[in-house]
Amino acid sequence: MRFQCWCLSDKGLKRSGNQDSFLIDERIGVFVVADGVGGHMGGEVASALAVETVREVLGHPKALQFSPREVLMQAYQEASHRIFDRAAQESKLNGMGTTMVMGYFRDSKLYIANVGDSRCYLYRKPYVWQLTEDHSLINEQIRLGFLTEEKAKATIGKNVITRSVGFERDVYPDILEREVFPGDIFLMCSDGLTGMITDQEMCQIFNDNSPEKTTPLFIQQALAHGGDDNVTVLVLNFSET
Ligand code: CA
Repeated sequence: MRFQCWCLSDKGLKRSGNQDSFLIDERIGVFVVADGVGGHMGGEVASALAVETVREVLGHPKALQFSPREVLMQAYQEASHRIFDRAAQESKLNGMGTTMVMGYFRDSKLYIANVGDSRCYLYRKPYVWQLTEDHSLINEQIRLGFLTEEKAKATIGKNVITRSVGFERDVYPDILEREVFPGDIFLMCSDGLTGMITDQEMCQIFNDNSPEKTTPLFIQQALAHGGDDNVTVLVLNFSET
């Protein structure tokens, strides 16, 4: 199986900086999108620290001695410790944290890990599926039956994240394991995309375009719909060798 990956990040139309970070490391088979939270540079620092830590932990020669789940757990724990400890040292970084969604391709499988409300989708022609579950107040209310998805869409205001990397010292990601087939496309993104386009529009872009053309189209669509937030889109395409 061969893979190709593209990623673009844009600060959007309403924010002065970009607190999203991403990482593509084809050698170790790792693909990451992180969306930092926390004012005064905190968000930027947190998301950058998170992706750096992932590269270090998963790229370490010893990583292959552990199962993919173990090494993903270690990467999230280590990132959370570093962000939490750094925030404790610098008062202007207090309370910073980050979402982090990632794919780790190993032994012909894609392991997907997630904390927060960035997302991973699978496009398998002609449908898209959301693979990750948001750790957000809105999603918890939907799960408990207090809110319908339709009402949630109409809810105004920033979504509150209920789990983040670095806000507390320890963090536990959700981890999924997917068998990969030629033609599968995985999309990882920050909420600057999912807050701006519907799943149907996402599906339409994949249906109408070859995978290498889609990344800028997603960014354009998010900006055309208001560009309220930083937007990062990573597209990972699997094909026959
Ligand atoms: Ca965001």
